[in-house]
Amino acid sequence: MVITKVDVFHVQDKLNPAIHPVLCRIHTDTGLYGDGEAAMSYGVGSTAAFGMVQDLANLIIGMDPLETEKIWDKMYRTTFWGQNGGGVFSAGMSAIDIALWDIKGKYFGVPIHVLLGGKLNDDLRVYASQIQFGWRKTMGAVFETQAYADAAIRAVSEGYDAIKADFFTFRDAPSKGAFTDRDRTCYLLPQNLRLVVERVSAVREAVGPDVDIIMENHSYLDVNTAIQLAEAVRPYGIMYFEEPNTPDPQTARLLAKRINIPLASGERIYTRWQYAPYFRDGSLQIAQPDMGTCGGFTEVKKICDMAYTYDVAIQIHACGSPLSTAAALQMEAAIPNFIIHEHHQCFLTENNIKLCKRDYQPVNGRFKVPELPGLGQELSDFVLYDRDNVDLVTVDGSKQSWTMAKDAK
Ligand code: MG
Repeated sequence: MVITKVDVFHVQDKLNPAIHPVLCRIHTDTGLYGDGEAAMSYGVGSTAAFGMVQDLANLIIGMDPLETEKIWDKMYRTTFWGQNGGGVFSAGMSAIDIALWDIKGKYFGVPIHVLLGGKLNDDLRVYASQIQFGWRKTMGAVFETQAYADAAIRAVSEGYDAIKADFFTFRDAPSKGAFTDRDRTCYLLPQNLRLVVERVSAVREAVGPDVDIIMENHSYLDVNTAIQLAEAVRPYGIMYFEEPNTPDPQTARLLAKRINIPLASGERIYTRWQYAPYFRDGSLQIAQPDMGTCGGFTEVKKICDMAYTYDVAIQIHACGSPLSTAAALQMEAAIPNFIIHEHHQCFLTENNIKLCKRDYQPVNGRFKVPELPGLGQELSDFVLYDRDNVDLVTVDGSKQSWTMAKDAK
């Protein structure tokens, strides 16, 4: 079996202009195909990821798709920018690798978790993620303290026993908008800290003692303000404190000494080489690699295993298309250090659901892993055929011109 071509998709959905998923489908001479995602649909960078997947696709035409280690190593080591590459490079590699594992599963007729060693977890605990957007089928900012409690109760009434919020995104009224970097670094003003604590307290009171609360911070804080906030919310029993500041081994070490809440990070840490210092230093208790940015199945399985040797738990970061959910579930089912699955509010929205054929949603706050061969999920006709809303570039090796990569086997 050899790879014949790669279709790379960049979703520019006019109905959802803030999100730009980058997806791919790898085709083989047997008719088997696999789907993957470079999970950079939000923020800035999807155009680069779209190009990155195309560049890497050129390297793999004619190769055996089952040779996932060989292809991963080729992408990492023969491309100059692969080694210690950043998020864009790693996301491009992830898209290719996820699609290859999808092919591998279909080739052997089994779901990917079987190929990863089999199922250790069948009934995956799930948290409702980012309830500051309201926890509804449409995303909207939450300002009033009571509305945080209401969103948490909505999730709990659906069966979730864990929720996550960034309590420090929006101010207390729509007219005031969101907090700025200046509000969240160097020193937290008493009135801002008081508002955040009031929200945490309201959610705790609303959900009771048996629902876990994860505090997200999107790296908006710095060391000083993360310590201030951690001290202030300590009485409310936070399950873990996510991305307190810009991911960096040195400051993570400092925070681990100063904060008495378990620390989580990983959506902006890529590959084994970047994770290693955090594990060695004991500065993370929960690692959050994203299947679509951290290097795909080939790499994330190694990171999960490395984390296990340091007693670090794994929560796969998921905020892409439903392909990302399927990839996360396949990985989480097969690792002993799985802690909880992230179900982001974006996975409730129609614009996201329409990217893939199947709509997997948790039931009573628990997820089953897809049992179909491969990922158990695939791209929808909207992605494959809607050329008004989705750009497509097909890579078949005919434009390959980079000799350094071409010569490397
Ligand atoms: Mg996060």
